[in-house]
Amino acid sequence: MPDGAGSAREQDLEARLRAVRSRISAAATAADRPEPHLIVVTKYFPASDVRILAGLGVTDVGENRDQEAALKAGELEALPLSWHFIGQLQTNKAKSVVRYAHSVHSVDRSSLVAALGKAVGAENGRRAEAGMELRGELDCYLQFTLETAPGSRGGAQPVDAESLAEAVLATEGLRLAGVMAVAPLGASPAEAFERLLEISASVRAVEPSATAVSAGMSGDLEEAIAAGATHLRIGSDVLGPRPAVG
Ligand SMILES: *Cc1c(COP(=O)(O)O)cnc(C)c1O
Repeated sequence: MPDGAGSAREQDLEARLRAVRSRISAAATAADRPEPHLIVVTKYFPASDVRILAGLGVTDVGENRDQEAALKAGELEALPLSWHFIGQLQTNKAKSVVRYAHSVHSVDRSSLVAALGKAVGAENGRRAEAGMELRGELDCYLQFTLETAPGSRGGAQPVDAESLAEAVLATEGLRLAGVMAVAPLGASPAEAFERLLEISASVRAVEPSATAVSAGMSGDLEEAIAAGATHLRIGSDVLGPRPAVG
């Protein structure tokens, strides 16, 4: 078991994870905020790394490509992990994603809301027929673009917050968790995340329980915590530099 318990890779991941966790608690203390949930983004890294992380106490992992996520989630089915889908999602992948995903952080249009609702219904029909336990509601985070100029990183326009929130609320099988954004390149993450918290307030005006704010990556977790993030999505600072995409 070259990549298992006690391996060099385990020691590496353990040290990086410990460093990230102490950054998170220092930032939460400094900002006088509760510590957010940590989602470790494992995209491009092998299932063996995810297994090691689970052994180190990680409970939530993030992936951005369905094919890769479906394989890893299938291989690691026995582990107590929640899988968060954080990438751009095509409607034709909804059926696959709801097989393994606890949440989707990239809900940015009403056609995707409809596809996810339909997919949860179909998935539960399939499970019922197979005598399997039904899946729970899918947690949906509305993703917003915080770019001032039209950007390429995905996300709805802030002006669509209420209508998208209402679409999720009206769809069986989905739970409105909250909001998500990626800070725009070359702009102040602190300002971007403050903007996201304003959008969060308008979503909470529609549904008070939709309090989740998914914000903060390796480079800007401190700013996200200061602004009020509840969920961080951290990849490279836990796993190391991402391998070249093969
Ligand atoms: C890759 C990715 C992350 C993690 O980014 P790091 O900079 O590696 O921490 C977070 N959110 C999204 C949407 C991503 O695609």
